[in-house]
Amino acid sequence: MATKAEEIIALEREYVLQTYRRPDFVLERGEGVYLFDSDGNRYLDLIGGIAVNALGYGDTEILEAIEQQAKKLVHVSNLYHTEPHARLAQLLTEHSFARRVFFCNSGTESVEAALKFARKWARLSHAPSKHEFVAFAGSFHGRTFGALSTTSNEKYRVPFEPLVPGVRFATFNDLVSASEVVCDETCAVIVEPVQGEGGVNLAERDFLVGLRELCDQHEALLIFDEVQCGLGRTGYLWAHEFYGVHPDIMCLAKPLGGGLPIGATLLTERVAEAIEPGDHGSTFAANPVVCSVAQVVLRRVSDPAFLASVRSKGETLESELKCLLETFPLVTEIRGRGLMWGIELEADVRQIVQKGQAMGLLMGSAGDHVLRLLPPLTIEQEHIAQVIDKLRRILTEPES
Ligand SMILES: *Cc1c(COP(=O)(O)O)cnc(C)c1O
Repeated sequence: MATKAEEIIALEREYVLQTYRRPDFVLERGEGVYLFDSDGNRYLDLIGGIAVNALGYGDTEILEAIEQQAKKLVHVSNLYHTEPHARLAQLLTEHSFARRVFFCNSGTESVEAALKFARKWARLSHAPSKHEFVAFAGSFHGRTFGALSTTSNEKYRVPFEPLVPGVRFATFNDLVSASEVVCDETCAVIVEPVQGEGGVNLAERDFLVGLRELCDQHEALLIFDEVQCGLGRTGYLWAHEFYGVHPDIMCLAKPLGGGLPIGATLLTERVAEAIEPGDHGSTFAANPVVCSVAQVVLRRVSDPAFLASVRSKGETLESELKCLLETFPLVTEIRGRGLMWGIELEADVRQIVQKGQAMGLLMGSAGDHVLRLLPPLTIEQEHIAQVIDKLRRILTEPES
């Protein structure tokens, strides 16, 4: 007789569109930083639903917010006022450079909104020819047409061409390359302060400072995509705080809803003034349940003590990863900040990820050679010790 896992996996293979290759276990429940599959196996989670589960699994405050709000009201659409919507917008602006917030349902939607708002702003304040975007090699901004057009990975782009015209690419961390493509026709430059999917690449301070100056010089907007690196991930509430550079627009999503879908596009008043009723919208966005949960998440991850703990755990992880770098020739580089790390390997990363799964460790990848770690921000020092111990064992016998 087939086990429950075998049955579920067979159903997935038969009926679900095959856009993902999933491992052969079925996750059933979570607790803290651990996940459990249908056979009762326990996994230490170092990917956190791709940087979504910042507060881990089963957080009581999140569960209470869901329950309380769901009993009152789940959805009414954006045709009406609701309290959680307004309060979340207030909280986001109080904690950021921004004056206004547009809500949507995902990261790619928050990028779509940012690109549309930049175009509208440029159209009102400049000539119609000012409609180009500048993005960077190694970028990932999402899978819908606008966001995909600013995403550099050929594998994601080529099958769907033609994409949105008017996007130029420059080299990440190369100001000369950026200055060759940013011009008076540029309406916005979009960049991740820490690239995620591209391999966990940290922007250099001079690069972001220089981009800000280039944008100001050419009267273009600067968009920071903090969908992955924002909301405490790097040990700062916003990844750009580390650099002291402010954008005109910021995209958020992944961890904001505590596991429920939400995206947010944050804007300065200057950009917001270009937008009027009817310019953009969404049926589901800002539903009262997700906005209630997001207030809990934002309050928790913006707490200075919480952020200090992310930085200190990040330092532990960094020094442990440095030891791995010195010990194992297979490890060629480590890159990251806070609790966002990439481990560059001279090996097929899929094999390493699979070995991890067999040993009860869930890790991500970025490309073919980078192991990506995005644990819940609530991970503790003792878990980090377990992670390093398992990584040592995996790297000792990577082929077996
Ligand atoms: C994941 C991601 C997106 C897309 O978010 P989705 O919710 O998957 O649409 C956009 N930008 C960055 C930096 C991301 O990491």
